[in-house]
Amino acid sequence: MKGPPAAAAERANRWRRTLPLVVVGAILSVVVGFVLGSAAPPGEPPRIFVEAPEIAVAGRPLDVFVSVDVPATVRVRYADTTIEEVTQDLRVSLLAEAGTWALEVEAEDGAGRVAHEALSVRAAWPPAPRLTVSERLTVGDALTLRLAWHGDPTRVPMIPVSDAFLELDGRRLEGVVRGDDLTVLLPVPLQSEPGARTVRGVVIDAFGDEHEVLKVVTVEANPYPVQELNVAASTLAVVTPAGRELEAETLERAFAAVGPEPRWARTFVLPLEGRATSAFGLPRRYAPGGPVSYHLGTDIAAPTGTPIHATNDGVVRVAGMYPIKGGLVILDHGFGVSSLYFHQSALAVAEGDVVERGDVIGFVGSTGLSTGPHLHWEMRVDGVPTAPLAWVDRRWPGGPIERDGEDP
Ligand SMILES: [Zn+2]
Repeated sequence: MKGPPAAAAERANRWRRTLPLVVVGAILSVVVGFVLGSAAPPGEPPRIFVEAPEIAVAGRPLDVFVSVDVPATVRVRYADTTIEEVTQDLRVSLLAEAGTWALEVEAEDGAGRVAHEALSVRAAWPPAPRLTVSERLTVGDALTLRLAWHGDPTRVPMIPVSDAFLELDGRRLEGVVRGDDLTVLLPVPLQSEPGARTVRGVVIDAFGDEHEVLKVVTVEANPYPVQELNVAASTLAVVTPAGRELEAETLERAFAAVGPEPRWARTFVLPLEGRATSAFGLPRRYAPGGPVSYHLGTDIAAPTGTPIHATNDGVVRVAGMYPIKGGLVILDHGFGVSSLYFHQSALAVAEGDVVERGDVIGFVGSTGLSTGPHLHWEMRVDGVPTAPLAWVDRRWPGGPIERDGEDP
């Protein structure tokens, strides 16, 4: 059967399909059958004028205006609400319901003649941003921030998002947008001041409205006391200004080559099973009265020749023998992340090689500034050293930032 209601429903459907979800900036109004100043002739139903937004924000007021050319009983039906009043002009504030709903208006005059109009109103939820960030960390940790603006199944449909950004103490951060979230990975340098930092996430919707979320992150001081090393002068002899300069330039070149997109999707792994002999971040003096320097990696002791594995997928940016760092490999993992492996006896990769997590990149040794066979392993973000052991078993930003099988 193809009666008028079916035709009207088909028209409404066609309209729904062609209607853009949100018209930026403006709320359009629909005017239906408005005739001014003339009373209804005998036998004619009243004439009505209805004004309502086509598109609204769910959960916020939906203002409807109805005008009739003669006094009438006016009925307004929308979602679960019905309003009835004898009047000529009716102004009502309804609550916009998410989704597409009919707004039906009826006006019945004293003679029982009825006029009827129906509009379609679409309403969507504003984005409700959520910010995931570690609230306490120590200098030398890598800080991950994730701003998400979707994923609440009770708030569908949602107004489209036109922009999103993250700030740390008012400074805008660079990040990667994937679907409905923005992720930033940030090193907290060993030298940074302990204390509170404010993270601000902002999502701007297609209406131009800003939705903000704030969190405070507390950075704690380096917990280690200064270590006094007594390294023989003959060992320190490898540290020359020329050697330092060559290595600094080499590292700079490697870090500059690290791209913005993560090259990994799986968790990071320990490059070597062995005994951790010296922790990351230790402040120490190489000679009594000398300057304090920080240990920028984790040392893992193992016999000479033990294979060393790539901590994750990446590209070899540096592979060579250097005066202080000895046999050195630097892997580029993308997203600003690089891993460094020092003091190797022999290398198994060349610059430009693409490696997968677990591939052998070289072998434990004691080359360069070293007092015994071990691997000195570093994990850097934007060239800034971070605690390597904190990366193990984590996917970090790339994929989800949390540990495998664990929700934040
Ligand atoms: Zn070391």
